[in-house]
Amino acid sequence: MSDVLTLSNVETMYGRVMAIRGVSLKVTEGSIVTIMGSNGAGKTTILKTISGALDPFKGRIAFERAEIAGLDPDVVARRGIAHSPEGREVFPLLSVRDNLMMGAYTRRDRDEVARDMEKVLGWFPVLRDFLEKSAIYLSGGQQQMVALGRAFMQRPRLMLLDEPSLGLSPRLIQEIFAIICRMNGDEGVTMLLVEQNANVALPVSDFGYVLETGRIVMEGPRDVLLASDDIREFYLGIK
Ligand code: ATP
Repeated sequence: MSDVLTLSNVETMYGRVMAIRGVSLKVTEGSIVTIMGSNGAGKTTILKTISGALDPFKGRIAFERAEIAGLDPDVVARRGIAHSPEGREVFPLLSVRDNLMMGAYTRRDRDEVARDMEKVLGWFPVLRDFLEKSAIYLSGGQQQMVALGRAFMQRPRLMLLDEPSLGLSPRLIQEIFAIICRMNGDEGVTMLLVEQNANVALPVSDFGYVLETGRIVMEGPRDVLLASDDIREFYLGIK
């Protein structure tokens, strides 16, 4: 399988503060890759740099072998990358249907869009009851479903997911991750996710990276990371 995404020596600054310090990583086609790391490690900054919300100060970002570093977010989205941001950013006054359709705004294949909408509602049946209601009435878990569904409606080849488990109950986390796995396995969407909750993310990932203060300090296939004493102690809470 080829590499869909490659970051080479990426540095991203906030003013004079360097949040990402020479990050190199790759995501293989069809895989789920997780970047783990504590609060403030730079996980969100990496995703924003890939999706074009932030410009890197240095380094290269290749998506399907074309350079995308510094492109505008809508150009990156049109190339085939969807970004489900931290905090979900669901539009509270729009209906759930309109929120989901926001993901499909560049698509012209109406029949396919309608089929994808049915797919999303099949994964998250609870959203069907809220379709014509404002998203303001949704719980945190339902908002996460909308954020994921909206990203899927874009029909991306790569999805960037920022802390999909944040603030959700263990049961909802399982539900959300089951759908992430189906989007990957059944629909062939490659996934790059960032998570503080390594307990749920690492077991479903093919490969993982550990980020500390803007640097990758460890990387490896899932099973190697799951067997690592450091990962078990510091990221999985197992002694
Ligand atoms: P979290 O899980 O808390 O979002 P994170 O690993 O995603 O953490 P980032 O949000 O990427 O971390 O932040 C990386 C570093 O950059 C942190 O030290 C943070 O304080 C800093 N930072 C983030 N956003 C800004 C900003 N807009 N201006 C200045 N510094 C920022």
